[in-house]
Amino acid sequence: MHDRTALVEMRIDRFITERLRPALYRRRTPLTVRAWVVNGEPVPFAEAERAVYEPFSVGTAWGRPWDTTWFAVTGEVPAGWLDADGALPAGTRAELVVDLGFTAGQSGFQAEALVWGRDGVPIKGIAPFNTAVAAAVDVAGRVDVLIEAASNPDVGSLFSFEPTALGDPATAGREPAYVLRAVDLALRDLVVADLLADALVLRGLLGQLDLGSPRRAQILLALDRMADTVDPHDVAGTASAGRAVLAPLLDRPAGASAHVLHAVGHAHIDSAWLWPVRETARKVSRTFSNVLALMDSDPDFVFASSSAQQFAWVKEFYPTLWTRLVERVREGRFVPVGGMWVESDTNMPGGEALVRQFVEGKGFFRSEFGIDTPEVWLPDSFGYTGAFPQIARAAGARWFLTQKISWNETNRIPHHTFLWEGIDGTRLFTHFPPVDKYNSDVSAEDLAHAERNFADKGRSSVSLLPYGYGDGGGGPTAEMTATIARTASLEGSPVVRHSTPREFFTAAQTEYPSPEVWSGELYLEFHRGTYTSQLRTKQGNRRSEHLLREAELWAATAAIRAGWEYPADRLKRIWQLVLLQQFHDILPGTSIAWVHQDAERNYDRIRTELGDIVDEALRALLGTGDGAVLANAAPHTRAGVPALGIAPVATDGPVRPEPDGETIVLDNGVVRVVIDRNGLIASMVDLATGREVVPVGDRAGLLQLHRDTPTQWDAWDIDEHYRRTVTDLVAADLVEIDDAAVVVGRSFGNSTVVQRMWLDAGSRTLSIDLDIDWHERQKLLKLAFPVDVHTDRAASEIQFGHIERPTHTNTSWDAARFETVAHRWVRVAEPDFGVAVTNDSTYGHDISRRAKDGGGTTSTVRLSLVRAALFPDPGQDQGRHRLRVGLVAGADVVHAVVEGYRTNLGKRIVQDVAVGEVEPLVSVDHPGVVVEAVKLAEDGTGDVVVRLYEALGRRARARFSVAFPAASVVETDLLESAIEGGTAIVDGSSDGSGADLALRPFQLVTVRVARA
Ligand SMILES: [Zn+2]
Repeated sequence: MHDRTALVEMRIDRFITERLRPALYRRRTPLTVRAWVVNGEPVPFAEAERAVYEPFSVGTAWGRPWDTTWFAVTGEVPAGWLDADGALPAGTRAELVVDLGFTAGQSGFQAEALVWGRDGVPIKGIAPFNTAVAAAVDVAGRVDVLIEAASNPDVGSLFSFEPTALGDPATAGREPAYVLRAVDLALRDLVVADLLADALVLRGLLGQLDLGSPRRAQILLALDRMADTVDPHDVAGTASAGRAVLAPLLDRPAGASAHVLHAVGHAHIDSAWLWPVRETARKVSRTFSNVLALMDSDPDFVFASSSAQQFAWVKEFYPTLWTRLVERVREGRFVPVGGMWVESDTNMPGGEALVRQFVEGKGFFRSEFGIDTPEVWLPDSFGYTGAFPQIARAAGARWFLTQKISWNETNRIPHHTFLWEGIDGTRLFTHFPPVDKYNSDVSAEDLAHAERNFADKGRSSVSLLPYGYGDGGGGPTAEMTATIARTASLEGSPVVRHSTPREFFTAAQTEYPSPEVWSGELYLEFHRGTYTSQLRTKQGNRRSEHLLREAELWAATAAIRAGWEYPADRLKRIWQLVLLQQFHDILPGTSIAWVHQDAERNYDRIRTELGDIVDEALRALLGTGDGAVLANAAPHTRAGVPALGIAPVATDGPVRPEPDGETIVLDNGVVRVVIDRNGLIASMVDLATGREVVPVGDRAGLLQLHRDTPTQWDAWDIDEHYRRTVTDLVAADLVEIDDAAVVVGRSFGNSTVVQRMWLDAGSRTLSIDLDIDWHERQKLLKLAFPVDVHTDRAASEIQFGHIERPTHTNTSWDAARFETVAHRWVRVAEPDFGVAVTNDSTYGHDISRRAKDGGGTTSTVRLSLVRAALFPDPGQDQGRHRLRVGLVAGADVVHAVVEGYRTNLGKRIVQDVAVGEVEPLVSVDHPGVVVEAVKLAEDGTGDVVVRLYEALGRRARARFSVAFPAASVVETDLLESAIEGGTAIVDGSSDGSGADLALRPFQLVTVRVARA
């Protein structure tokens, strides 16, 4: 047989592009457009409705970056379009079609609009691949709508990662960014639309089939005949005949062994990224109105959406949309998923913050919709903490979904469906959609890739297909659901069916109840700069978390001890704002300048408000007099003041540094530190054991400046090659004793760093404050502590425990982990001697090992302090930063935990008080069982809720004591509901005075104390 395959394929492609697509609309006519430019931040509909509109011509430039233009559009169906009986021809539909001047960039990263009825009801969004609005045309064929068009600039959707000034309204410029290309009334031919969908599905499938397959040959022949049958000069008149040619090919059922894809409509909308938070609320309104419009026309369509925060915006700003949405949620087609306040980062939020992501998220979905979300939905966050399975399960989640790990640069996780085991042993049924994206367009290529790529085939036959344009691109389209309808059972294609995440997970777990296990964190071998970028945002998070701890503790204490009114609403509002900033492009430092400026302003406000709550609560507890006390919010005794209590404190400040020749010595009888003439730590000896911390010839506290020019994704990535270019900042401008500290000043490039080092009486921690004035570009500043410890692993604090990672590079997995995340401390140790490094600000670390002269190895712990990527914020990290670090000699894990809290919780001395002592509400008699939060219950009953965890990775038996009149002590889930079969409270020991606890390593426990 003659092989004409290539030629026929070209013919089909051209026929589809040049004949079928243009025939989608039989007629078009321009509408009348008038415009009103807001010239600033978005306004509510009511204000736009009242504005004065000027005539506006299609073809005219509009929209300076980040501005909003409202277009008033009017017109009607021309009489010439109507049949003799005055109706539109059968098989047609009139639609408003708008082209805002869309660019070649991605949907969601450019201009977008929302069409409003004159009654103030949002009708539907407009995006590059979703430009038609049927509901804008009323039954009489008239159009009278307002279009709220956002001229969001394309900050970087082509991902060349070039620096741009567009990410800050102050520098984005004032020139119009778009040209309005079309505002038409158009007559859609519904039969041509169906023919186009038929042809595209078969053409796509053909491209995925083997060249030798009979099915492929049959499809090719049919498409060729379709092109013969459809008259290019009368597509409308011959479309039905064309469909008849293709119908037998579309009727052939799927193979009995075909992979089954559960298609879940979705729109991954980043809560801020290359646009500010305020724009996300509008993106959500546009996408949700699209989704509701599609639900009206397609009864099978199901849509899943995460992030309670995004629903809350719709409820607050778009009440009519909200009413329609609630209806569809009740019906089960609009499905809230995930149960978190936002799709947060999971590496950096503290343990209590991750808990609150669920408390606020699930709480919102429960109170608004009465539903419980059984799955965690985090397709896009940059790696997943080993603490997550336990937190998710304690929040009632049964399933976990992500896709991001498919972005790994080096290694491939061997499963798509598996059990993920956390550091405490909790297991969570997990799925990575093998389509390797969370915004599929349901192309044949995506479907075939998912089937081929699925690692667990043979054992399992199902996977999840999240489809729809994200980030304001409008979500799923009618074209996508048309494909799903045609691939429900189609020979040669995987089976595609509409599904909810719950239906998918139920099917997957039923079919494959005992999949393989992945233990520990899901480290993303990519985006390693996100632990460090935008230091001020990271500090804002860390400091807000610790202030929230203090505010809740003292507010609860004041409520119980002094009858003070617990500020539940204020705390909830502040928590929600902190949780929003933990979104996976804000806390990781990967957003435009505008977003980080907003974040810093929010953190400033949060600091002030929490400071007020702490002050008010302490004043209620302590009255006014002439005493002074320490309010110790730490979970451990501090300066003789019990954990979580208040008592007077004898000031035991730092020891005085003493010059010794060219060096300076700090000695408090616990450790002896020698600072050399360059201001570097030459020696630190743990006096009880005589062990030297600093390897002979090395210097600790060394600043190292690296070139930092990642290959792509600048703010996201630190690439392995950064290590090969380094300058040690040894020279000091200044080394002096100031008060009780050694002060060292250094300058390099355009930057300066002042280090203050001091040693408190009785402490084994050398504290170092850094004041950095940073004006470098594409550089990474590290702080290095070489330590004389031989080990092949390091412990890093994560949420509710710590994780051990190898410091060697035996395997490709170990080598890829060259930059890692830690919270308040890291520790390297031999069995009888350890060294910890604490910090109050950053999360990025690298911990490596070196051969030691004379045998063995030493370890080097380094913190990543600041970076200066140029994309997406060309001013990243510029300016002043202050942070605190501690070097702890002879640190066991308890020391590391205690010093980690100490570095992050300032010494709160309260002056002029009448009351000298406040007994802690609760206490625990075990140093490894740590109280993470003390608060009043979310339900307003006044019960006290305490979150504890085992911090050492050991089994612990402890007495939890309550020091206020209480009726009962019960174990609860994170949502503060009593759980049956809890294991933490030892049977029979519970009464109002406390409970005996038995914890497994790293176990997280929530205890609820009912007041008597
Ligand atoms: Zn994202």
